[in-house]
Amino acid sequence: MLMEKLRTHHTRDIEPEEMADKNVNLAGWVHEVRDLGGICFVVLRDREGMAQVTLVKKKVDADFFNKAKKLMRESVISVTGTVKPEEKAPNGYEVLPDDITVLNESCTPLPLDTTGKVEAEMDTCLDSRYVDLRKPRTSAIFKIRHEVLKAVRDNFTREGFIETTTPKVVATATEGGTSLFPITYFDREAFLNQSPQLFKQILMSGGLEKVFEIGPIFRAEEHDTRRHLNEATSIDMESSFSDHFDIMETLENTIVHAYSQVKENASQQLEYLGIDLEVPETPFKRLTYSEAIDIINQYGKEELEWGDDLSTLSEHTLGEHVYNETGAHHYFIIDWPTEIKPFYAMPYEDNPEISKTFDMMHTRLELSSGAQRIHYYDMLKNRIENQGLDPDSFDFYLDAFGYGMPPHAGWGLGCERLLMTMLGLENIREVVLFPRDRRRLSP
Ligand code: ATP
Ligand code: MN
Repeated sequence: MLMEKLRTHHTRDIEPEEMADKNVNLAGWVHEVRDLGGICFVVLRDREGMAQVTLVKKKVDADFFNKAKKLMRESVISVTGTVKPEEKAPNGYEVLPDDITVLNESCTPLPLDTTGKVEAEMDTCLDSRYVDLRKPRTSAIFKIRHEVLKAVRDNFTREGFIETTTPKVVATATEGGTSLFPITYFDREAFLNQSPQLFKQILMSGGLEKVFEIGPIFRAEEHDTRRHLNEATSIDMESSFSDHFDIMETLENTIVHAYSQVKENASQQLEYLGIDLEVPETPFKRLTYSEAIDIINQYGKEELEWGDDLSTLSEHTLGEHVYNETGAHHYFIIDWPTEIKPFYAMPYEDNPEISKTFDMMHTRLELSSGAQRIHYYDMLKNRIENQGLDPDSFDFYLDAFGYGMPPHAGWGLGCERLLMTMLGLENIREVVLFPRDRRRLSP
């Protein structure tokens, strides 16, 4: 049999009235078989949706009817038949089959139920992603992930950014602080990169002016939370001749474009997930770090001092307060103490205690961190030393600052955090095909 003959249409491509009595070939998985005695429904599922294949006992060959009745759920089949409009069936039609070919039979029992009637534990879903992905709800998440990434690329492109890819195997620990995964690189020790930070800054010296990268970041953090992965996807940008306020606008545009493209191109998927997506309004509220501390101290359960980093609990207090005041989930915290931000963050000239930095938040968690960067060689080298890091191991980076580094700014946005907050999902693992966390290294 020729492969192209296995399928002439996806289930969603069939127009019930227009194609009535036409012959079609559908291919996909057996979602369900409902045997009602005199009539048997085989629900065929493909990537785009479902179709009902109807066999009436009195009208078809007895062997054919019995074979259909006994189809194993999740087997792969191809169906040849005629389209008949039927209001009660999915997509408004049914197929009266001439033939059903089993292309590959599924074993039984299945690792989990694809109809969604029996809920499976997260671990079971992740262990058997190949079946889990067949659930319309799960595949919807990844279609939406595709739409988000596409929209992000679109937005960068229309704002004049070029896409870059930088090494993930590196010789030095990027920023200190976060722990790294060491690996063996021939006879040397190397690390998996925790962020493209240093490379994208070098590209500013290289004159590329506006770059973005969508790629993996690796963090050997021990924590086991619902918002951290050990391998995550970071959406990163860097822009020359820009300050932190300029790139906050790019960030707002990125978020809004992602939401509106998902709303426009993935309505079916949003429906599967039961989401009525609201596109956030810009500009997002901007709080200073000092204002944030005041709010936390006034409304929260803990007392913070100026200079403290924000705990998860304080992020919740703040997020709820902002949401109650503005009705918006997204907001910025700007002007952080220089000391608690990475060495490359630019201090304000007139008040070096605070820096040209921001975090962009969603009610319950951080989505992005960004800053105007230090572009002066001496200042940067000092900051590296002050943070207890060894400037020698940063030569490859520092060198780029001695020969015409323009002022620049940039941010990193967690792709998975963006998705989980957009879709209201509690666990970050739901938006990654094969998550890497403290316990999970396979599949
Ligand atoms: P957090 O404090 O929430 O752990 P961070 O401040 O350490 O995050 P950054 O180094 O600022 O993270 O990274 C930029 C963005 O990348 C974060 O705002 C977040 O969206 C995403 N990100 C960072 N680390 C992780 C992780 N372990 N898992 C998932 N996303 C991450
Ligand atoms: Mn951060």
